[in-house]
Amino acid sequence: IRGIDRLRDSSLNNGLAFSREDRQRLGIQGLLPPKVRTSEDQLKHCRKHLDRYEKNIDKYIYLMGLLERHENLFFMLMEKYTSELLPLVYTPTVGAACQMFSSLYMHNRGMYITIFDKGYVYDVLRNWPENDVRAIVVTDGERILGIGDQGTDGMGIPIGKLCLYTALGGIKPHYCLPITLDVGTNSKAKLDDELYMGIRQRRVTGQMYDEFLDEFMHAVVKRFGRKCLIQFEDFANANAFRLLEKYRNTFCTFNDDIQGTAGVAVAGVLASLRITNKKLINNVILFQGAGEANLGIAELLVMAMKEEGISEAEARSKIWMVDSKGLIVKDRPEGGINHHKALYAHAHEPIKCLEEIVRTIKPTILIGASAIAGVFTKEILQEMAKNNDRPVIFALSNPTDKAECTAEEAYTYTDGRCIFASGSPFPPVTYKGKKYYPGQGNNSYIFPGVALGVICSGMLTIDNETFLIAARALANIVDEEDLSRGSLYPP
Ligand code: NAP
Ligand code: MN
Repeated sequence: IRGIDRLRDSSLNNGLAFSREDRQRLGIQGLLPPKVRTSEDQLKHCRKHLDRYEKNIDKYIYLMGLLERHENLFFMLMEKYTSELLPLVYTPTVGAACQMFSSLYMHNRGMYITIFDKGYVYDVLRNWPENDVRAIVVTDGERILGIGDQGTDGMGIPIGKLCLYTALGGIKPHYCLPITLDVGTNSKAKLDDELYMGIRQRRVTGQMYDEFLDEFMHAVVKRFGRKCLIQFEDFANANAFRLLEKYRNTFCTFNDDIQGTAGVAVAGVLASLRITNKKLINNVILFQGAGEANLGIAELLVMAMKEEGISEAEARSKIWMVDSKGLIVKDRPEGGINHHKALYAHAHEPIKCLEEIVRTIKPTILIGASAIAGVFTKEILQEMAKNNDRPVIFALSNPTDKAECTAEEAYTYTDGRCIFASGSPFPPVTYKGKKYYPGQGNNSYIFPGVALGVICSGMLTIDNETFLIAARALANIVDEEDLSRGSLYPP
């Protein structure tokens, strides 16, 4: 590609780094200012640009614009300032971006396939210009982070996730395709917003939805082949579990909210054992929330405990769960126990209040993923510290303002003894003169690597063991220095 099109194609654009020879050869001489920049100078320039913006959402807009203009430079920037830019391209800023995605809209990226395309999904997929797509991240926008239904505006998530495929996994951008399946939205705010870009109707459910999803899965295989990875992201609970069960053995697919989260959380738990000097099986684990994230984590912990030599039943007996109706126990009067939760419903009195549950169950590890902000109260954190030398506390809910507690609260109310991780990043905390660097228990440590592995090895299906292997690999690269700073994850 020559001439102006060369500059307009983000994947071929080199900006001011086009050499004089290139400019003549490609017919772009005169289409750029005279200066030939080194990529180092280009990065400096981007850095300066980025720093001019005060609000994170403006930095996000700048970064997405850069991606659209000059892909290579965007990824060089991501590589150079990974830990700083991750919270902009990904959680928490991407959450805010999804909330205003329609009003931020400037460039096309990825594909929007709507329920009105039903019957023609393959034909729509044919419109994608790349034939060699190796990985798709797909959402229907119904459970975006902890902020609920965003409809078509959930697209920020597949875009952000796939940015990490490249920035962290080194997967070529043109192999990656973000897709939003728009079946409507139940968000009143979106439906009432005159600038909303999605289809303006309530969500289609039931058989129509299932047929649409099924058509989508088969259309992907027909268009991109059986080895094309399909990562499900931010589907609502019931669909997430159902679709995973339906497709896991016949498609190259995983659900990041269930399985990726499990990988990263289990890695954190495994790393914490090096501080507590305990075997995994000598822990009591309490989950606040019994949704995609926590049920996925629990399943993987059971698998890890079995590898330590105990039976499945025994492993499950060490795990307790709390959902919106309180402690999950056998024959709970309020009910609400699906077959996933039932595996952890032990014989016990029903208890509603989390504080009382913590006092009764005496967990050594407390994991929150229920999107209920602040639910790990001072009293609960103090109780954890009373019962444990080194209580393990994970506040996994995203974005930051949904976290079960802040890092500062966790360290303060456990007298600096807790081993803490959170889903969205928290800045370091100084408590009684010691500085703690809380780790970010976020699936970004898992899914880009798993995706790379899946693509490279040509896996046709992805079993749960893959995520336990990933968890162990991640836990193993946490070094003593990370642990002594309070981080269960590598930087
Ligand atoms: P989900 O499937 O919708 O599950 C939410 C769970 O929370 C449900 O079990 C729900 O109970 C429970 N819940 C609601 N209110 C509650 C309350 N007052 N007390 C106790 N439990 C309550 O959602 P999810 O996919 O698990 O995600 C939950 C959160 O985890 C989100 O904020 C998400 O961002 C975060 N997350 C973080 C990561 C990470 O990498 N750190 C990864 C995935 C998800 P019912 O079952 O009774 O409705
Ligand atoms: Mn997710």
